[in-house]
Amino acid sequence: MQRTAIAAIDLNSLRHNLAISRLYAGDSKIMCVVKANAYGHGMLRIADALRDTDGFAVACVDEALELRRHGIQQPITVFQGFHNKCELETCVTHLLWPVLHHSFQLALLEDAAPALPAGVWLKFATGMNRLGFDSSEAKTIWQRLKSLNGIGDIRLMTHMARADEGADVDVKNDFTVEQINRFEIATEGLVADRSLANSAALIAWPASRAHWVRPGIMLYGASPFIEGRGPNLDLKPVMTLGSRIIAINHRKKGEPVGYGGDWTCPRDMRIAVVAIGYGDGYPRSAPSGTPVLINGRRAALAGRVSMDLLTVALEDDLPVAIGDEAILWGQGLPVDEIARHVCTISYELLCNVSNRVHFLYHGTNPA
Ligand SMILES: *Cc1c(COP(=O)(O)O)cnc(C)c1O
Repeated sequence: MQRTAIAAIDLNSLRHNLAISRLYAGDSKIMCVVKANAYGHGMLRIADALRDTDGFAVACVDEALELRRHGIQQPITVFQGFHNKCELETCVTHLLWPVLHHSFQLALLEDAAPALPAGVWLKFATGMNRLGFDSSEAKTIWQRLKSLNGIGDIRLMTHMARADEGADVDVKNDFTVEQINRFEIATEGLVADRSLANSAALIAWPASRAHWVRPGIMLYGASPFIEGRGPNLDLKPVMTLGSRIIAINHRKKGEPVGYGGDWTCPRDMRIAVVAIGYGDGYPRSAPSGTPVLINGRRAALAGRVSMDLLTVALEDDLPVAIGDEAILWGQGLPVDEIARHVCTISYELLCNVSNRVHFLYHGTNPA
């Protein structure tokens, strides 16, 4: 039996968004970021549909291994690199490109030489200050790595902390410019490919594009910019999360709806019950008033979201019947808008869609 809650994944939209990324990337190569199960969209199906990209990127070795076992042949960058000797060996065997961000990884490489990865990224902290060697150490680390017998191509990267604040806002965000400069100065004279840009930087900061760009969220059709503080993008939503209305009930003015009874009917009205809840990944923190799309029109969430169900207030003139579809986000209702209501970002909503939801893929894969 087909489950009621459905995440419809439009692979044509995905490929459209890749084409948009390409327009911004110009001559830069693209590694499509498919970590966290491709932001909740299903990593292998997404990777298949993106097969004509220059490379992929994931967070950890396990994710990379899953891609290789599926037959993905392109370079795969592993953002966290290897955590131990065993993962280093996996990187070597499966031709992964681990990110080196800490001296414990250099020590592991020195022990393992000359059986070393065919490619590595050397990551420097320039302002994000989460993972990465200190920029001031760039030349020393480079030398230490270069002297290793058996090391493959070395590439250089950093990560932007505030590119999502956008370039065309009134208060110009100088932080990103500073990061780009710091990276340039630290790595000056080192002959290697470079990568700096996530989606936001790729779009808003042309100076960050370099040899490789790393778009993630934009591939899935959501905006990388906070509060719409970026250019209007021609991106298409890839995931449309929907479910069915399984009951419509008439309630009287003043009657409470849902756990806690903290929402009450402002007048006599119909309440639709939709078969989706936080057990499916719809956020429990969504407040009453969060939009839900029913038959092409916006209605408002009413009362608390529960595990399997949520309730929606229906305007009297909205034609609706049991069995109709309700869309929680996606086509016609941007996930960014829901994220704003929930005080989070689209990334978190998309990643949280649970495997109780039935995933349906449509659209074509590359030949
Ligand atoms: C997740 C990630 C990206 C992609 O970021 P988006 O904002 O989704 O484009 C790029 N680089 C690194 C290091 C990341 O961890």
